[in-house]
This record gives sequence, structure tokens and C-alpha cells, in this order.
Amino acid sequence: MANIIDGKKISAQIRTEIAEEVKAMKAQGIHPGLAVIIVGEDPASQVYVRNKGRACEEVGIYSEIIRMPESTAEEELLAKIDELNARREISGILVQLPLPRHINEAAVIAAISPEKDVDAFSEVNVGKIMIGNHHFLPCTPAGVMELIRRSGIEIEGKQAVVVGRSNIVGKPQAMLLLHANATVTVCHSRTKNLAEVCRTADILVVAIGKADFITADMVKPGAVVIDVGMNRKADGKLTGDVDYAGVSEVAGYITPVPGGVGPMTITMLLKNTLTAAREQNK
Ligand code: NDP
Repeated sequence: MANIIDGKKISAQIRTEIAEEVKAMKAQGIHPGLAVIIVGEDPASQVYVRNKGRACEEVGIYSEIIRMPESTAEEELLAKIDELNARREISGILVQLPLPRHINEAAVIAAISPEKDVDAFSEVNVGKIMIGNHHFLPCTPAGVMELIRRSGIEIEGKQAVVVGRSNIVGKPQAMLLLHANATVTVCHSRTKNLAEVCRTADILVVAIGKADFITADMVKPGAVVIDVGMNRKADGKLTGDVDYAGVSEVAGYITPVPGGVGPMTITMLLKNTLTAAREQNK
């Protein structure tokens, strides 16, 4: 039976460390602040944004949630970002995605000043991650790395397989594992013999968005299995991309859903906000 990697517990530990750091920063006159912009009424986004605000409050980070109507014009959103770029008490800016269809997501991300881009989605920050010269790491992949490291798992020299190649999870995940000296294979929807490739993994990170897709026969005995997926089943329950019941019989370590990668994402956002504040106050 696999060891369970408890994302809630690890996330709580890191948030305690962050709260201490915030105190120390404030004592030096540095006050980290995060602005979160939400456009429209998407219920899932509303929940995420509320959770981000609450998490800031818990660790002593100043936060502002800016709610804009669905009908907001792209220029208005860009003007708001400009205003936040110029405000000293705002160290980090996050625009909750997805945006309404009439707004160009890429233009919005590009408008955030790179030193305040705490999601690390901008071209500048993605480029910095690629060459390993970064301040911010994208929150979800960075959370995965923390889960692995804080579980005492060695990454160097291991065979890592990442399933999924999105810009926000799969690709940066592969890069972070590569920087940690794993040998990395990236799989996607056109990969041939996916099960065979997955079975080569000492560390298997799955981010595809398909409920219970990775089954026990696709996992090497003793492997570390990290499930990034978040899927709603017909009964409303949250489930990952990995068939937890089956895979936990084979894997050495496994993250549950919920309670694995999920709690780490916001924690890493808090960390990035501190990094931003520190850099802006150098
Ligand atoms: P995307 O839809 O952007 O990307 C999915 C990726 O999976 C694509 O690269 C796609 O390949 C690949 N894929 C799809 N089907 C298959 C298949 N049958 N075999 C192999 N590869 C496949 O998703 P995201 O990266 O944004 O998210 C992935 C999952 O992670 C979702 O469930 C999402 O909800 C969750 N998530 C969780 C977060 C958290 O905080 N825990 C944060 C972000 C995401 P191709 O490129 O060829 O189309």
C-alpha cells in the first residue's frame, strides 16, 4: 500500500513558515500585498478567488479582490492592471482565468508587470523558468516539487514522466523536474504506448483532466505518483486523473484528490507574493 503524500499537512506547514516570514518582513518595513482581479461571475472562479483572499489574510498578507462585471471591456481591465502595476503596496497581481471570451487573455497577462506576475504566466517569466533564472515558479508545478521534496523523495537521476503538456502545468512541471536533475519524458494526447512510457517512471506526474485515467497497470511498482487532476464526477465529488484505489496498491507514494496537489497551489501563490515584495524592496 502506497504512502500517502498529505498535501493539506505539508501546505499547512509551509503556510506557518510563510506567516513567520511575513512577520519578519513587516518588522523590516516590507508589507507584501496581493491584488486578485476577477471578471464575471463564474462560480468556480469565485470560490478560488475567495480562497486566495482568505489564505492571504491567514498569513498576514494584505489582499485586495477586484470584482469587475462580465461586460468589462479589455481596455478597462488593462487600465486597472496599469493602476495596480504602479501601486507600491501591491506586490503581486493575479488575474483569475478564464476571462470572458471578448477579452484577449494573452494581452492581459502581458500587461502585468513581470515583477508582479505571481502566477508566472507571462512570456518573460516563462522564459526565465526555461533558463533557470527565475524569481517566481508557476504555482501548481512548484507545489508538486515541494510535495516531492518534503516527503524526502530524491529527484536527481530519477526517471520522471509528466503526462500533459499545458503551459500552466505540464510544460513548466517538466522543466522544474529537469532543473532538479531528473530525466524527463513528457506525454500528451498523441503519445504512442502511453502505458508503457508511464511504467518507466520513478516519478509520474499526471495533469490531463480525465477522471481516473491512470490505472494500476500503467504504474511501476514503488513509483511516486502525483495527481494534479481535478475532475467533478456526476455525483459532484472531486476526483483526480489517477485511479486512486487501484494505483495506491502498486505505487510507493501517492497524492490523494482532494487533499494532495490542490492545497499547495495557493500556498505557492503566497510564497510568490513574498518573493515579489522582497524583490521590489531591495
Ligand atoms: P489542459 O486541458 O490545458 O491540458 C491537458 C493536457 O493533457 C494536454 O497536454 C493534453 O494533450 C493531455 N491529454 C489529454 N488527454 C490525454 C490522453 N488521453 N493521454 C495523454 N495526454 C492527454 O489541462 P491543464 O494542464 O490546465 O489541467 C490538467 C488537470 O489539472 C485538470 O484536471 C485541471 O483541473 C487540473 N489542475 C489542477 C490544479 C490544482 O491546483 N490542483 C491547477 C491546474 C490544473 P494535448 O496537448 O495533446 O492536447
